[in-house]
Amino acid sequence: MSTRDFIEKDYYAALGVAKDADAATIKKAYRALARDLHPDKNPDNAAAEARFKDVSEAYDVLSDAKRRAEYDEARRLFGSGGFRPGGAGGFPGGAAGGGQPFDLGDLFTQAGAGGRAGGAGGIGDIFGGLFGGGAAGGPRGRSQAASGPARGQDVETEATLSFDEAALGVTVPLRMESPGTCPTCHGNGARPGTSPRTCPVCQGAGVTSRSQGAFAFSEPCRECRGSGSVVDDPCRDCKGSGVTTQTRTITVRIPAGVKDGQRIRLGGKGAPGRRGGPAGDLFVVVHVSGHDLFERKGDDLLLTVPVTYPEAVLGTTLTVPTLDGVVSLKVPAGTASGRTFRVRGRGVQAKSHAGDLLVTVEVAVPSRLSPAARAAVEALAAELVDDPRPEVTAAVVAGTRS
Ligand SMILES: [Zn+2]
Ligand SMILES: [Zn+2]
Repeated sequence: MSTRDFIEKDYYAALGVAKDADAATIKKAYRALARDLHPDKNPDNAAAEARFKDVSEAYDVLSDAKRRAEYDEARRLFGSGGFRPGGAGGFPGGAAGGGQPFDLGDLFTQAGAGGRAGGAGGIGDIFGGLFGGGAAGGPRGRSQAASGPARGQDVETEATLSFDEAALGVTVPLRMESPGTCPTCHGNGARPGTSPRTCPVCQGAGVTSRSQGAFAFSEPCRECRGSGSVVDDPCRDCKGSGVTTQTRTITVRIPAGVKDGQRIRLGGKGAPGRRGGPAGDLFVVVHVSGHDLFERKGDDLLLTVPVTYPEAVLGTTLTVPTLDGVVSLKVPAGTASGRTFRVRGRGVQAKSHAGDLLVTVEVAVPSRLSPAARAAVEALAAELVDDPRPEVTAAVVAGTRS
């Protein structure tokens, strides 16, 4: 939650309470709304979900006396409903005076470009000085002035696994890139050996006062873009921004049984939190390579095994591979080509369920025969007097009669 949220969002309206409502009233209003809007009660209702989030966010702030005071102060300084000139409840005195419009967008753009250090802080850091206290006159303690703990961002990455790794589970190293404090200048943006100097315009406060008609109000200093200091000799690694892209390698355990295209969530493995906040989550999109022998259908493994005609006729015991070792499979006498045998529990060993190995036997027909084999097959043919396709024969006979 940023100061910008503070300025743009009306938390009192979200909860439907008066601005001077006491803590008990706020709690009561929140409970009633949370009950009605809860996602369990409103499945697949995006509007209710959005309202639920707004209400929760509003309660987060208003239920905390310190944050509520900061919120009230931000709203008092910058007005409610944004910076529209003449807008309802604009900044002090601005509405009626028809003064020069205050361009909020411009302010935020500058904050983004110049907001250095403190991670991805930006606007929160700039306004932080207004509410952090004790800042005027000296270099601002930025970390101290910044708002409370912030959860790290969720990060998404990809991993390509072999068929076996996906089926059995694997531990893989993943390279992650994320913005972080520049290690060369420790985030202050100045070249090592030099240091930033206090901004001469705002004397390090990061804010300046501006008069408009009879009124004065504060805005982020344009000279130092709100940081309170000026860098004469920028750090070469981060070009003075104080932030560089850092690569870290983390080791993650991919559970057994993941499927191609699956997105797995690894809680707390995302970007680190700021100011003591919890880390975000890591999402890994898994790509699984094919296998020479096996196919996969859910948690079952499919394997086709060619057999000879005598094996199918007389029966045999096959030794077939699995992902971890081999199994014996008894093929009974008189097995038809294409019949599938199920070997229970020898498929993919997913966490909740072990799949089966499905072995399909297929009679292989040799394309070449030795003279002796040919003679044996011909002798066999002479012995096989039963018609293998009586229905077809009957239909053919019926067809020639009509
Ligand atoms: Zn640097
Ligand atoms: Zn300044």
